[in-house]
Amino acid sequence: MRRIVRAEAICLRVRDYHESSKLVTFFTLEHGKVSCLAKGARRLKSRFGAALDLFTRSRIIYYASETRTLLTLSDAELVHAFSGVALRPERFLAAEQMAEFALRVIQPHDPSPQLYRLLLNYLSTLESLQYPVCSLQSSGSANLQSAICNLQSPSPYPALVCSFLLKAASFLGFRPELRRCLICRRPIENQRPAYFEPGRGGVICPRCAGENPLGTRLEPAGLDALAFLLYTPAAEIARVLANSPQPALETDRRERQGRHDSGPDNLQSAICNLQSPLDLVLGFLGHHFDPLVLNSFRWHAGLERNT
Ligand SMILES: [Zn+2]
Repeated sequence: MRRIVRAEAICLRVRDYHESSKLVTFFTLEHGKVSCLAKGARRLKSRFGAALDLFTRSRIIYYASETRTLLTLSDAELVHAFSGVALRPERFLAAEQMAEFALRVIQPHDPSPQLYRLLLNYLSTLESLQYPVCSLQSSGSANLQSAICNLQSPSPYPALVCSFLLKAASFLGFRPELRRCLICRRPIENQRPAYFEPGRGGVICPRCAGENPLGTRLEPAGLDALAFLLYTPAAEIARVLANSPQPALETDRRERQGRHDSGPDNLQSAICNLQSPLDLVLGFLGHHFDPLVLNSFRWHAGLERNT
């Protein structure tokens, strides 16, 4: 028996299907991942209009059936197109990485409203992000903004993707431990390095790591940078990336982290020496999710190189 379902959705994948139709995979707020056949969507005067473009937020209506996995899309009304994301290739690539990750971790008909709102939030941030004013040459005064922009390249997009992935993994039950040693549970001391072990799910203090640490060495400011990307709202990250740093933000962040003596100078130099944060986060995800999840990131080096 067929029933009519209404949902709010983000379009994550679109494929042509036969001569006139499209297969569309949505991330819906109410029902998780849903794949629909949009009949006639390839025709010039399709009733779906722009509502089936990639990353578009829409209100959709589809017919669900107990016996069929492929559903039939009845209507799609555009809510927001995120057209600003498509204007720059590197924005589009960043959005595609986030969408691909969501596509692979969410399950059919299993809602994940936190992840849905996170994706919407990061798409909005990508769309409105002012291209960074910082460059490798122009950072006369050391600050968080230039530090993060200079992680590996002057592009802010890897940092945003990194932040999205850290938060998405957290919502799915895999929040990396960045503040306390996973073995002795003591807070990581200021001014001391820590060793990030993706398989264990976080950092190990130098004392517990011993003489031959297994993890990736993180300087204190590198650890601060990862924590910043994990715990700071996307809009604040975007402000830091696009504008001069705000002293209040710096203070808030250090207070939240209980770290009072790692100044911005330290932060910048250490983050600049940090291994690509995306590599670090992907290493973490690789231990906790199906390897297929990481297939969509094979080109991430291209993202950093091409910006
Ligand atoms: Zn320890």
